[in-house]
Amino acid sequence: LSDRLGSVFDRLTKQGALSEDDVKTALREVRVALLEADVSLPVVRNFVKSVEKKATGAAVTKSITPGQQVVKIVHDELIEVLRGEGEPGELRIGSAPAPILMVGLQGGGKTTTTAKLAKRLTERDKKKVLMASLDVQRPAAMEQLAVLGTQIGVDTLPIVKGEDPVAIAKRAKTQASLGGYDVYMLDTAGRLSIDEELMAQVEAVRDVTSPRETLLVVDGLTGQDAVHTAENFDERIGISGVVLTRMDGDGRGGAALSMRAITGKPIKFVGLGEKMDALETFEPERVAGRILGMGDIVALVEKAQQTLEAEQAERMMKRFQKGQFNMNDLKMQLEQMQKMGGMEGMMSMMPGMGKMAKQMEGAGIDDTMLRRQVALINSMTKKERANPALLQASRKKRIAKGSGLEVSELNKLLKQQRQMGDMMKKMGKGGMLKQAMSGMF
Ligand code: GDP
Ligand code: MG
Repeated sequence: LSDRLGSVFDRLTKQGALSEDDVKTALREVRVALLEADVSLPVVRNFVKSVEKKATGAAVTKSITPGQQVVKIVHDELIEVLRGEGEPGELRIGSAPAPILMVGLQGGGKTTTTAKLAKRLTERDKKKVLMASLDVQRPAAMEQLAVLGTQIGVDTLPIVKGEDPVAIAKRAKTQASLGGYDVYMLDTAGRLSIDEELMAQVEAVRDVTSPRETLLVVDGLTGQDAVHTAENFDERIGISGVVLTRMDGDGRGGAALSMRAITGKPIKFVGLGEKMDALETFEPERVAGRILGMGDIVALVEKAQQTLEAEQAERMMKRFQKGQFNMNDLKMQLEQMQKMGGMEGMMSMMPGMGKMAKQMEGAGIDDTMLRRQVALINSMTKKERANPALLQASRKKRIAKGSGLEVSELNKLLKQQRQMGDMMKKMGKGGMLKQAMSGMF
């Protein structure tokens, strides 16, 4: 709600714009905050540069300082970068049995995360899951997964001594098919640092199973190293997503931003402890707040924006109640309609307007029509928009010509604006306007 309303009001009420100096000064502090959060230097540089471009010239909300405004813009941008595309927490499972390959360095949290994820898939998504440990380096590692499996009630592939990882992966695949499993998870071995043998091994496993998801598990506290690891695994193996562990620690989690910026791969989950239910869907808002560490300022700006929007909405409603519904209002509505899937979508959200929606449908009002109407309004002067009563014959001709449309279409638009105005006035008396407006935005 507030986003859409916000963008509308930004245009209507510019309180002043951020100067280059404002932005530069504020970004100096942001840069320090990001570096303190362990975001890697090249990522900080790029991020700051892109925000600088976006922020310069942006509107400053009433009662907010330019510096505070920049922080809010940075915060929003951080969320954007962290989120990327797709749904965090969603895995591509598809047809059974779906292989999920878990990769990463030793001690990053692969085995723990494998079990946590298996538990989540079993309990939340009602999947039948099989886990297999391919960690032949450390016999205790296989045992570790078996113990976790018993603890969470998820099957593990029986351990056969002397098998290599590829053989285990093949056996897991066969077992998953025969046993009717939806998902089989392959927990690979890790090294303390990336080496050729590790990569070749993971690659071979990948080739015999063609994983639906290849999740890189990395310690979120390792900052720069985590990014280096991610780059390497992505280049060599190709990862589909990232799980950041140890996000329950003291670190600010800057690795999340670096990871997103450098690999472009989605962060799907975060590990928040050693317990089996300490796995959560990655939430960009939460992590952004933590990385930036300026939550108070962000909250302040949001509050000011909400207050301003409420004031604006109130003022607008008062005008509507008095029957003052001008072309700016109509334009805003038309644009909202376009966004909301046309006339029907919007009307269905406004009480008592179902009938009108049908009428308009009957009159052939559709998206093309909406675009033409907006074009007509764009051809009007500021004064004309605020006071459509000014529109006499010569002005009408000029506007029609300017938008490449007929005067008759303009007349229809004027009629619509009057009708809407009357309706708003009537609804205002019945107290329905408030309800209708909250549905609109
Ligand atoms: P692997 O070598 O990659 O398989 O790593 P493990 O799964 O064996 O985890 C190594 C250690 O990190 C274990 O003691 C885990 O309990 C711990 N660990 C894993 N994930 C988390 C997490 O999200 N938070 C915390 N605090 N500890 C974790
Ligand atoms: Mg392990």
